[in-house]
Amino acid sequence: MLSSQKSVYNFNAGPSALPREVLEKAQSELVDFKDSGMSIMEMSHRSAAYEEVHNQAILRLRSLFSIPENYEVLLLQGGASLQFAMIPMNFLTSAKKASYIMSGAWSDKALKEAKTIGEVYEAASTKEVNYNRVPTLDEIKWDENDAYVHITSNNTIFGTQFQEFPTTGAVPLIADMSSDILSRPVDVSKFGMIYAGAQKNLGPSGVTVAIIRKDLLENANASIPTILKYSTHASNNSLYNTPPSFGIYMLGEVLAWMEEQGGLEKVAQNNEAKAKLIYDAIDNSNGFYTGHAEKESRSLMNITFRLADEQLEKQFLQEAKEAGFVGLNGHRSVGGCRASAYNAVPFTACQALQQFMEEFQAKHQ
Ligand SMILES: *Cc1c(COP(=O)(O)O)cnc(C)c1O
Repeated sequence: MLSSQKSVYNFNAGPSALPREVLEKAQSELVDFKDSGMSIMEMSHRSAAYEEVHNQAILRLRSLFSIPENYEVLLLQGGASLQFAMIPMNFLTSAKKASYIMSGAWSDKALKEAKTIGEVYEAASTKEVNYNRVPTLDEIKWDENDAYVHITSNNTIFGTQFQEFPTTGAVPLIADMSSDILSRPVDVSKFGMIYAGAQKNLGPSGVTVAIIRKDLLENANASIPTILKYSTHASNNSLYNTPPSFGIYMLGEVLAWMEEQGGLEKVAQNNEAKAKLIYDAIDNSNGFYTGHAEKESRSLMNITFRLADEQLEKQFLQEAKEAGFVGLNGHRSVGGCRASAYNAVPFTACQALQQFMEEFQAKHQ
């Protein structure tokens, strides 16, 4: 099947694997969307047909992620990176500070961007140990006067993930969930805001999901450009300007696929089973493979590991490539290897990787 369909085992970190069924459905609807005689890409974003796609995607998000009624669900552009700027622009007022929990490269970027807007500080950091774990809840210190506390739920580059979130009381907790949104159930009501670029777990790049508690919008900074205000997008149902309509269509189809898988609980179970295969290959290797993350902080989405030396890693990546594996090289800032096993990566691909790792070890030990 693999060769006849020209498929690969796609472990890319992002953009990353999409469900094959979704790609095939999109292909079948690409030229003539629901007998309209045109593609969804060619339609007005004010048309009834597009609006249904748009609203369906939002409804599916609400239902799959159990988003309470008092939250807005926005579909934005500019990736998580634009959110790094929009969050402090909207919520960091001059009388307050914002605190950032530092757990990797993306929290670094979020903090740097916020620094250009207002006063920020670190609520905790594991930089000293090269981000091989996330801070424990005890290590996280914030102030009750903070504008918000920012957290990165899953650290895509280092392969760590929070298993529990701090309870920040009246201070809104804002989470970048770009690389683990909808990979597991989360109590959304713990958060003031959750955001994610779509290209890891939700669809193609170009769409950014933002889930924001409504009362935060009312108290947000009003003296910023219209397009950068969350309230603008909220009061226009994310149709203030032309949305990335094809990406939102794909988002809706990925969410429908998740429903067909049995919903979030089922997807989370699959993700646990998938990651376990690869972590087992590491843990049972007698040190041939070493994981970067400490066990309690391990990510189910991004599995980072090293081999004895760079020469052997090069060999591993080369042979993996020849065997049909894509995207196993670690991020350029960390090196080593990384397997990203997002929602759409099939269990069989993780089985194949486990087997490949065992065979490679047997050959080169
Ligand atoms: C990929 C990623 C980003 C960057 O997303 P863009 O859409 O490229 O801006 C930010 N945060 C996390 C945790 C990521 O994994």
